[in-house]
Amino acid sequence: MSQETVYAIASGKGGVGKTTTTVNLGTALAQAGKRVAIVDVDLGMANMAGFVSLDPSSTTLHDVLSGTATLEEASYKLAENIVAVPSGIELEEYAKTSPEGIRDVVETLRENFEYVLLDVGAGVSHETVLPLGLADSVLLVSTPEPASVHDSKKTLELTDRAGGRVGGLVITRTLPSGDVSYEKIASGLDIPLLGTIPEDPTVRESVYAGTPLVVHKPQSPAAVAYRKLAAKLAGITPPSTPSPGSDEEDTASDGDSETDAESRAASHDEVSSAITEAETDP
Ligand code: ADP
Ligand code: MG
Repeated sequence: MSQETVYAIASGKGGVGKTTTTVNLGTALAQAGKRVAIVDVDLGMANMAGFVSLDPSSTTLHDVLSGTATLEEASYKLAENIVAVPSGIELEEYAKTSPEGIRDVVETLRENFEYVLLDVGAGVSHETVLPLGLADSVLLVSTPEPASVHDSKKTLELTDRAGGRVGGLVITRTLPSGDVSYEKIASGLDIPLLGTIPEDPTVRESVYAGTPLVVHKPQSPAAVAYRKLAAKLAGITPPSTPSPGSDEEDTASDGDSETDAESRAASHDEVSSAITEAETDP
């Protein structure tokens, strides 16, 4: 899997945990020292910005796709090793976008990051199908619910039509008392089971906090599961759970918003120059 760079995080049904997975898998990869970009290509129902305390009314992927901003202007450094490209939430802005531009965005990011995670919209529209073909590997996200599993089949089919490849299944919101075999769900879809993420109330808490769960509550069961998934993708041994109050965790979860905004603004420039250098480099 190490040759794969661009992952599409996709599902048939909405609300199954794609954005949660994109944000936490991306952050866990960054914590493991990989350079990561996470991109909200769910253009119509964008919500990544809120998950990571970015302002969706600032410059976003919508502006890039409507030709009024550059990719570097819509790229925000979240923490060491990780950049987010959010989408806006205004329907009017969405109407001006052309999804075809996603191709160039993905290619530019591919050249600059070790992992590019695309948070793909649910459903069957063009902007959903396009990223499935651009990614090296599609990670299907589903809950154990039959309706969600059933809709995953459609995404499998769409990936095929788009010329993409499904790398495996991530089952979210699993319950300890679950009487279904997760391996069976994956084999029923004829794809490998890459990981399971337990139902965990701290996921919602982290969304309200606007901080990835693996930073907000690194000890929580879902955070542990996301680190395990990241380690599997990166082909590394899962890191042990950081101990509470360790230095790393303290700085990561310190929520002083002014300082955060300042460091984000400063780091935005660093990212811009990294991308600009790469773009102008022959
Ligand atoms: P999607 O991007 O597929 O629409 P989200 O990542 O936005 O899905 O998640 C949908 C809802 O499910 C959110 O309210 C989120 O907090 C919740 N959720 C996702 N994963 C879990 C989990 N493992 N445990 C509990 N709640 C979860
Ligand atoms: Mg989402």
